[in-house]
Amino acid sequence: MRVLLVEDEPTLAQQLQVSLSAAGYLVDSADNGVDAHYLGEVEPYDAVVLDIGLPQRDGLSVLQQWRAAGLTLPVLILTARDSWREKVAGIDAGADDYLSKPFHMEELLARLRALIRRAGGHACTELACGALLLDTRSSRVTLAGVALTLTSHEYRVLAYLLHHRDAVVSRSDLIEHIYAQDYDRDSNTVEVFIARLRKKLPAGMITTVRGLGYRLDCPPA
Ligand code: CA
Repeated sequence: MRVLLVEDEPTLAQQLQVSLSAAGYLVDSADNGVDAHYLGEVEPYDAVVLDIGLPQRDGLSVLQQWRAAGLTLPVLILTARDSWREKVAGIDAGADDYLSKPFHMEELLARLRALIRRAGGHACTELACGALLLDTRSSRVTLAGVALTLTSHEYRVLAYLLHHRDAVVSRSDLIEHIYAQDYDRDSNTVEVFIARLRKKLPAGMITTVRGLGYRLDCPPA
């Protein structure tokens, strides 16, 4: 899952970056409203953490413009302490949830997980496909109860497929969701990650749909 982090306060931005990365998210960051607006429009994020008080352009106007342009991605706003006006304005502008500063990192991660799950139509913290289980809280993957060891890229590919199980996911979708913005994106490496995952998963779970991409085929529960 790929997240846009928009926060201008360097220490908090750094803490958020570390925590989000440790939780398995791929994180792009912006420290001003102009860059944030641009990135949100051109990159396919799974969620945004958006500070409201930003240089150049405030978070509310960025959010309003995204929503006016039809962007539906989940947005969690960070508001100033005790500013109920900011919360109301933020929700009216199209925020899906908010947190007031200061907040506990665990709470931010929990709220973000919930937003991403709901955006994907999943109400549960665990994503399953047959005997395969991904716990979004711990970023742990098990197969028939046995822990699977995955590299961070393998995990991202599998998590994306699980969030979109039974749908065809194109190679370009995967590339956009597993690599950071400035990374040298080589589509051949997606095939390498898929090949490695296939060796770790039950035979036939990842189907190649010729010309379109990949699909995770899950047996009926
Ligand atoms: Ca700020």
